[in-house]
Amino acid sequence: MPLVSSKPILEEALRQHFAVGAFNANNMEQVQAIVEAAQEERAPVILQVSQGAIRYAGMAFAAGLVKIAASVVSVPVVLHLDHGTDFDQNVRCLYAGFTSLMYDGSKKPYEQNVATTKKIVEIAHAVDLPVEAELGQVLQTSDRVTYEQVCAAMTDPQQAREFVELTGVDSLAIACGSVHAMTSREAELDVPRIKAIHAQIPNTPLVLHGSSGVKHESVAEGIAHGICKVNVATALNQAFLEGIRQGLVQFAESTDPRKSIGLGRDAVKEIVREKIRLFGSAGVIDSTGGFVSPKKQYRSAELGAVE
Ligand SMILES: [Zn+2]
Repeated sequence: MPLVSSKPILEEALRQHFAVGAFNANNMEQVQAIVEAAQEERAPVILQVSQGAIRYAGMAFAAGLVKIAASVVSVPVVLHLDHGTDFDQNVRCLYAGFTSLMYDGSKKPYEQNVATTKKIVEIAHAVDLPVEAELGQVLQTSDRVTYEQVCAAMTDPQQAREFVELTGVDSLAIACGSVHAMTSREAELDVPRIKAIHAQIPNTPLVLHGSSGVKHESVAEGIAHGICKVNVATALNQAFLEGIRQGLVQFAESTDPRKSIGLGRDAVKEIVREKIRLFGSAGVIDSTGGFVSPKKQYRSAELGAVE
């Protein structure tokens, strides 16, 4: 299928209380693993290009890989910019064929975040592209953050409502207890806060960043209360490297790097499948690439079969 916009996919997720996995795409093997898992699970999927991926692969390669990946599967695939740095980068991505944009002005003063987000939303909406923005700050493990800092950086529900009204943004990344790049699942989300934000902006899909460090049951609870997009990067990177490490031992005598890297790809695919099932997005896409109607899903579940 050609790439699709994240807008209708996230709206459907909001209606049906599931979340779409947004997986970071750094190289061919990770991209292949993500779309193969989505295809087999009949799930819509977002492949996102991070600032690190742009530095590593370059914008043209990163976007090109995702476009090719979308063309060989029959589930909806979105090409999304992760943590866009400024107005110009969003324009470049729009021009390069991205189907979903993001501007992260969370570290800027509030008024500046509002102004730049609004400007990007205006140009994106002119060509029907949706924009994600961030309010509150999802911090980084590299900054050695304390629990108090994580709490202090959380999104304020009232401000979220004002921000969405002022900017017209399509989805909102919120800070609700996760931290980027955690390597073990220890964090718990502030679910009452998620509920309060969702109550203020019930029509805006909420986005969870830093999910790799959050307990599975807490992620599921967040999804039940308005989280519609869950970003996953660290867990995929960990799986990829673990697969490669095993391959380097198993094929120690081989001169063929594909053997080891292939094991990395297999490992990523398994993690993506696990996440898709956790997010409740498995089996929501029919054989034509459209959404299965909720009634039909219910019947399938009753019969013990997933179409
Ligand atoms: Zn993030």
